[in-house]
Amino acid sequence: MAEPLATDEFNAEQKRYLEGFASGIAAARLTGGLAAGTAATAPSEPTGPEATHIKAQERTVREGGKLCDQEKWKRAENPFDAHNRLIAEAAAGTTPKPEDNFRWRYHGLFWVAPTQTSYMCRLRIPNGILTAAQFAGVADLADLHGGGYSHVTTRANLQVREIAPEHAQPFLDGLVDLGLTARGAGADNIRNVTGSPVAGIDAGELLDTRPLAKSWNNWILNDRSLYGLPRKFNVAFDGGGIIPVLEETNDIGFQAVEIAEGAAVPTGIWMRLVLGGISGHRDLARDTGVVLRPEECNRVADAILRVFIDHGDRTNRNKARMKYVLDAWGFDRYLAAVEEKLGRKLERVDPAHVLPRRETNRFAHVGVHKQKQDGLNWIGVVLPVGKLTTDQMRALAGIAAECGDGQIRMTVWQNFLFSGVPDAKVAEVEARVAALGLHTKASSIRAGLVACTGNRGCKFAASDTKGHALVIADYIEANLKELDVPVNLHLTGCHHSCAQHYIGDIGLIGAKVVVSEEGDTVEGYDVVVGGGFAESAKIGTEIWKAVKAEDCPGRVEALLRSYLAGRESLAESFQA
Ligand code: SF4
Repeated sequence: MAEPLATDEFNAEQKRYLEGFASGIAAARLTGGLAAGTAATAPSEPTGPEATHIKAQERTVREGGKLCDQEKWKRAENPFDAHNRLIAEAAAGTTPKPEDNFRWRYHGLFWVAPTQTSYMCRLRIPNGILTAAQFAGVADLADLHGGGYSHVTTRANLQVREIAPEHAQPFLDGLVDLGLTARGAGADNIRNVTGSPVAGIDAGELLDTRPLAKSWNNWILNDRSLYGLPRKFNVAFDGGGIIPVLEETNDIGFQAVEIAEGAAVPTGIWMRLVLGGISGHRDLARDTGVVLRPEECNRVADAILRVFIDHGDRTNRNKARMKYVLDAWGFDRYLAAVEEKLGRKLERVDPAHVLPRRETNRFAHVGVHKQKQDGLNWIGVVLPVGKLTTDQMRALAGIAAECGDGQIRMTVWQNFLFSGVPDAKVAEVEARVAALGLHTKASSIRAGLVACTGNRGCKFAASDTKGHALVIADYIEANLKELDVPVNLHLTGCHHSCAQHYIGDIGLIGAKVVVSEEGDTVEGYDVVVGGGFAESAKIGTEIWKAVKAEDCPGRVEALLRSYLAGRESLAESFQA
């Protein structure tokens, strides 16, 4: 176990360590090469999978930076090496200290006190696709070890909550039995890998993202040097499908594009590289001009990550995402560093040679749609801001197995699709879904309703996002029946922006609203309008601050009425 690099008050041994660090001999200590009090004789290089991270930390300190707590925690005890200790302490009912809560997240578990004195587990589900047996199995685990429900997240993933400390290990063991894992699902790691939910079944797609998402997921899982980044990292593969994947909100987005004649590369389907998306920091990924053969994606993503590992900020968590290296360097310098890692030049094309991409459809993740396979359909099921009871999950798994191709495909819209449903089974699926209290049809407001966990389960939330989202949707459905176009309403509880409020037509971000001279507050929101995604990608603009939650339904109605009154055609977007 290596020592922390620095604390506010150093003991004698730490001072010796830091002195050695300053003179360039700290590497020996970092790798355990020096006993306390031993005179340094020669520097030694850090070794092992975390060596590059350690060198980046050393450089930060050498240059006068003060590592943030999370970097010290990673250094003091690697979260993977801490696994067995964490399990033992959880089994004994120990509440994790902040540094251990951080380490737990490498294993997918988040201690979420004080809102719930238990763990939440976030899984890894590449491309968001599970088998029916896995879906039912997660439901069983949520009954045995959790709160008897789960949520579909905005990364096409599942979260299970209310896992008591002594159930941490049985829950993780149960995931392994199902062929699943939660490894690296939280903290400074690459999060769930997203891909087109209709990959392989959408007649209009350019490329099936499933092999790419799975392959990248396995690439990550099997290389420990890709854990412990300066900050979290998102990667998405968009195959040109009809359902948006929101790759523009990811650090790395791979977009399938068709290259026309006359470009610097052969015609055909390529993956366009977009970088630096982080909507909570008001930035979307931008086109680098680089295009890749699909089989190159892993190698190039790996090199992009290693540049980030070397140069990401390890002192300030708010500036530690890759976007900030890109902002400081510009794309040209960053890509040159990537090419140096790769040992070759990347291919670039003039955007004029990229054929226009097909428009996405904001209703394609809901209801019945023809697949490219004759006689088969996908059916999107609407979930109340992502929530499912375990009884519903098992019943839905049964429907997938008996009426579809046995798969459950989750989307970034907090819902899921059945796939491979024969025409003759469509009515049965719809009826069985309805019997569970769920729907395969949605109003204009409910199809695009997205909400983060909110203050029922997240200590950062200023408001009850999920509860308020449903109240607003009920109100709009009752009072604005003339709403005839899909509208995205995103409610997020804090600046972490898990529900991506800046890309909603209307986005609400939780805020405490002061209601008395004594400083009493009630739940409320700042309001953003005009965001968008896919072909309409745009960061929205804040128009109101601190609107009480009880006033939000009326404010949303007013915005929508203003849009309906002012538009000149159905095609005119809310942004216009
Ligand atoms: Fe919690 Fe904030 Fe994420 Fe909502 S956006 S789930 S409040 S961290």
